[in-house]
Amino acid sequence: MNLSSNIIEVPGVGPKSKKLLEKLGIKTVEDLIYHLPFRYQDYSKFFKIKDLMAYTSATVRARIERVDNIFTRSGKRLTKARVFDETGKMDLIWFNSHFIKKQLTIGEEFNFSGNVQAIGNKIGLMSPEFEKAERNNINTGRLVPVYPETTGISSKWLRARNNDVIRILGDIKDFLPLNILIKNKLIGLNDALNKIHFPITEYDVKTAKHRLSFDEFFLELLKVEERKSNWNSNNSGVKMRIDKLNTNVESFIQTLPYNLTTWQKEACIETLNDMSKTVPMNRLLEGDVGSGKTVVAVISSYFAYLNGYKTLYLAPTEILATQHFETFKMLFDKTRIRISLVTSAKRNLDDGWDVLIGTHAILFSEEYKNIGLVVVDEQHRFGVEQREKIKLMGTSSRGKIPHFLSMTATPIPRTLALTLYGDLSISALKTGPHLNKEIKTWVVPEEKRSSSYEWILKKLSSIKKGQVFIVCPFIEESEIENLENIKSAKKEFEQLKSGVFKNVKMGLLHGKMKSLEKDKIIQKFRTGEIRVLVSTPVIEVGVDIPEAEIIIIESAERYGLASLHQLRGRVGRKGGEAFCLLFMSNYSNTAFKRLKYLESIDSGIELAEIDMKMRGRGDIFGTIQHGYKKFKIADISDLKLLELAKMTAQQYYPKISEYHELERKFGTMNTKLIGNN
Ligand code: ADP
Ligand code: MG
Repeated sequence: MNLSSNIIEVPGVGPKSKKLLEKLGIKTVEDLIYHLPFRYQDYSKFFKIKDLMAYTSATVRARIERVDNIFTRSGKRLTKARVFDETGKMDLIWFNSHFIKKQLTIGEEFNFSGNVQAIGNKIGLMSPEFEKAERNNINTGRLVPVYPETTGISSKWLRARNNDVIRILGDIKDFLPLNILIKNKLIGLNDALNKIHFPITEYDVKTAKHRLSFDEFFLELLKVEERKSNWNSNNSGVKMRIDKLNTNVESFIQTLPYNLTTWQKEACIETLNDMSKTVPMNRLLEGDVGSGKTVVAVISSYFAYLNGYKTLYLAPTEILATQHFETFKMLFDKTRIRISLVTSAKRNLDDGWDVLIGTHAILFSEEYKNIGLVVVDEQHRFGVEQREKIKLMGTSSRGKIPHFLSMTATPIPRTLALTLYGDLSISALKTGPHLNKEIKTWVVPEEKRSSSYEWILKKLSSIKKGQVFIVCPFIEESEIENLENIKSAKKEFEQLKSGVFKNVKMGLLHGKMKSLEKDKIIQKFRTGEIRVLVSTPVIEVGVDIPEAEIIIIESAERYGLASLHQLRGRVGRKGGEAFCLLFMSNYSNTAFKRLKYLESIDSGIELAEIDMKMRGRGDIFGTIQHGYKKFKIADISDLKLLELAKMTAQQYYPKISEYHELERKFGTMNTKLIGNN
């Protein structure tokens, strides 16, 4: 048996458990070993019976005196065992487990691990784990690993398999060269895998996680190096001329209905520079919704046109494609550039075009010729493989690869982008054109809640239009674990409707409503028939209410800053005054300080960066990891480790073939890591 052996070779795994294991993604011995605990139950402390204290976790080594299966009067099935050690006796109780009586042989010595509780008027253990006392027990008397389970595959079962596998495999060969271990102060792989499954101390867990996290980062970053090197090694980009054309681009920019922001100018310069190189561009343009990404693509496509090349522009939805088509037509009105649109409804291409806009329906169309630039809008909405296909879509028969510009509204902190997206060049539109005045934001203390409502009431009555969003984190109370102050949309709606807003038209909107019902509410809100809408955050997509000017966010401390920034972006769209009031349900100084940043900072990217520093893994990372492999143990906000892994990957990628074990491991990752959106 070795790492790549089929799981069926593991003692104790039969056809039935093999099937079940597949549900957990486990097919090989290696998969099993890398199916890691997500927590540990601390049963490491042994107690004598007389020393037991209620409400602690403990392990007791004791002998069985008697075991009885009992039916209580209320119809419950109990198993009750009396056990003893040299200091005393105690009772153990299990429910609905009459079969265990057979396992508990009278007179034998067992380990019992569990929570100490009062049973009757004495202290005992309720439903403890147990196993025959041995020198090295695996389910009791130690830090016991708890794994992701599925019906039929328990943690206990997995522990036994891992115990066998680790013993049979013996010393697991390390795929990291010794130098990497020494330089980065990492423990060996064999050591790490032993410790992650069978730690003796918390410190064991820590060092094992550290090593395995490094591996995850390192292997992912090797992949980045590979992509970069593959891309850069093709010198077959469409080299465009920037010198003479510059003035033409300049004069086109003069015809735009607005002046470019500094960020837009910079992004254009970077893009045009890339396009005048033989290595094809591979650039990501990031910026909040409304920061003005489209015009950068417009200018780049004009540059391609001046050079005699065509542009393909991919939008994630038909609505967006049509919208961009209109925008392009308007902005190119005074030029001779021809714009065309492909949607599922309109597949036929006009005869001639210079810029073709469409959804991924474009992918299924004819072969394109003379493409100089491919733009993908909202790139995160396309799958990784689709993206790779798109990149090469316009490649000509002579092997010329078009320049590639992708755009995203997901705020990616710079440090992270430079590592995980290390194969891309990045331009950022850090702030938008400020069409909208900034959204005045306050973190409001609870004692000012009622005066805030009064202020809103006044605002609502002083103007005919103008709507208010109130966002609550949950739909119903029953979803809330700790009840207390956290608000649910339904209850908040009822309370406000019969309370402070009783004279105001209110509506309720949440993710569990039927879409017809939702549309009706949104329509009423849009026309102003509903003035105050209580909702959950799920509905952010697609709700565009130009007149909305106030948003209240409840339990704001539960969100990441970048998410809050996106939520507040729903108000002030028309360009008038807009306000965002943040309430907290669980006050803490750190949370308060964190939220305060929203009062002064207006850039999603900057907010995401702060979030990462303050909170570690913020919720926005879900989105960033989307499409990339989700790291199993590595914490993506551990920038120090990420940086180390990055440097190591850059150093070792070029000579990877000298390290056979590493090369093999990297090979298995390549087939496995392909994520999907
Ligand atoms: P996004 O980054 O979300 O794709 P858009 O490109 O759609 O943003 O731009 C949002 C709005 O801002 C559009 O109506 C666009 O016309 C406008 N806009 C873009 N750049 C500027 C600018 N420099 N000055 C004023 N308005 C601008
Ligand atoms: Mg856009």
